[in-house]
Amino acid sequence: NGSVNDAKNLRVKLVLLGDSGVGKSCIVLRFVRGQFDPTSKVTIGASFLSQTIALQDSTTVKFEIWDTAGQERYAALAPLYYRGAAVAVVVYDITSPESFQKAQYWVKELQKHGSPDMVMALVGNKADLQENREVTVQDGIDYAEKNGMFFIETSAKTADNINQLFEEIAKRLPRPTP
Ligand code: GDP
Ligand code: MG
Repeated sequence: NGSVNDAKNLRVKLVLLGDSGVGKSCIVLRFVRGQFDPTSKVTIGASFLSQTIALQDSTTVKFEIWDTAGQERYAALAPLYYRGAAVAVVVYDITSPESFQKAQYWVKELQKHGSPDMVMALVGNKADLQENREVTVQDGIDYAEKNGMFFIETSAKTADNINQLFEEIAKRLPRPTP
């Protein structure tokens, strides 16, 4: 299921899915490099980054993060991309109801074709744009709850909840029995 594990150190493949423009690449760059570049252009080619975090129980989790380079536009390619992923992060933009609809489409795809023990997170990004909000927090909570997902709102711009997102995912990973 994408995890290469011993009891103390986990290594997991994580994929991001969601409409183009919701902030997937910015979330990754914020988490891995602590940066936000509002002028950064769409990644050309596949992008792969990794980041290790330590949990309080002294286990470590190394995320191998696959960021799409616009393949999100080609639904048919997606199964190749999320194959073997232990974690799927489905992202929408809280100012865009269309992106919330698209997120729901991806969740259904993952339920049909992803591995059954995949940890799934639903992320409402651009939470700094409160004045333009069009998807309520409750909408996100309700959808995530119905689908057994973890839910959080983030801002890659302000860094709000970015580390928390990955920490919460890490806590939810299935542990190998020692
Ligand atoms: P992707 O296509 O999903 O990878 O989206 P990008 O990461 O390329 O981001 C698309 C646009 O949204 C860029 O102009 C970013 O500067 C902007 N953006 C990303 N995250 C945030 C955020 O949290 N807040 C705001 N205000 N803008 C964001
Ligand atoms: Mg991108």
